[in-house]
Amino acid sequence: MEKILSDLLMCDGISGYEKNIAKIMTKALMKACDSIEIDNFGNVIGKLGKGKKKLMLVAHMDEVGMVVKHISEKGFIYFIKIGGISDLVLLGKIVKIINKNGECITGIIGTKPPHLMDTEESKKLIRYSNMFIDIGLYSKDDVLKVVDIGDQIIFEPNAGILNDNIYYGKAADNRVGCYAMIKVMENLVKSKDINAEIYACATAQEEVGLKGGKTSSFSIDPDFALIIDTTVTGDTPEIDEKISALKLGKGVAITIVEASGRGTIVPEKVRKLMFDVAHENMIPYQIDIIDGGMTDGATINMSRKGILTGILSIPTRYIHAPTSVFSIKDVNSAVDLATKIIYKAVGENCEF
Ligand SMILES: [Zn+2]
Repeated sequence: MEKILSDLLMCDGISGYEKNIAKIMTKALMKACDSIEIDNFGNVIGKLGKGKKKLMLVAHMDEVGMVVKHISEKGFIYFIKIGGISDLVLLGKIVKIINKNGECITGIIGTKPPHLMDTEESKKLIRYSNMFIDIGLYSKDDVLKVVDIGDQIIFEPNAGILNDNIYYGKAADNRVGCYAMIKVMENLVKSKDINAEIYACATAQEEVGLKGGKTSSFSIDPDFALIIDTTVTGDTPEIDEKISALKLGKGVAITIVEASGRGTIVPEKVRKLMFDVAHENMIPYQIDIIDGGMTDGATINMSRKGILTGILSIPTRYIHAPTSVFSIKDVNSAVDLATKIIYKAVGENCEF
């Protein structure tokens, strides 16, 4: 696995706590941009080129996680969830609490063992509010020496290769999108004939209300925004094909409708552009129409007087869990398609 990809997957950065991931994105984008800034909201915005047209690439850099809410007298840590995490994936997991000095404190998520539950209790789903984190200390005072209320908690960092093209890692949603955006900018910086301003925006706080996309698209005011994010697949057991037909390794997904229309409904001329580019360049793709889930596209599309928005989604298994699985082939097809969409969108024949 390329080092920048594993660095992105392993780095901490839940919504609102993006300082460290912003550093990695700044360093990586700096090489492919003329200038770079971190705005008041925490978005990292790189800018490349000059021209009348303004295009914006977007990948959110925050991840789902938890925040320390309360420490009991006996030293157990209670937490809230940040972003959509199922309680099912929490129990027994190893987590890291990042304290104010940037140190990582290891903890285990525990609850009452099944041996001590009565029959009724053992049938019920255990809620996160009945779980706690054990960091191996015996008192509140001792815990407070290393952990503060309000510290961020992430799943134990991990990244690797399962088999051939199939990779795994923490926070694949959306660090694989961040990686793809870096690669697209590296392609674009080599090209001499782009007469446009291209913005690469690593957004903050997408997982908690698509916030960074809203503020950054307002300030940039682009003619076209292209989002790169992840989407769920339907190629694992217990999922009917009619619910999701997306598969790992079959190409990047072109998303058309999010959250049954409550999210982005990609405008027809953007759809045409994305499909035309995929066909002209024979880039493998799948079509994503989804009942639940949204991207930054949803707020960007509604920004100002309406911003033309397209979405490319990398099919990913087990998103919002401690480890997700994706195909590097799909990531590469996202890079290829996004690069060529930008080329076409800045061209004279593009109608927007
Ligand atoms: Zn995402």
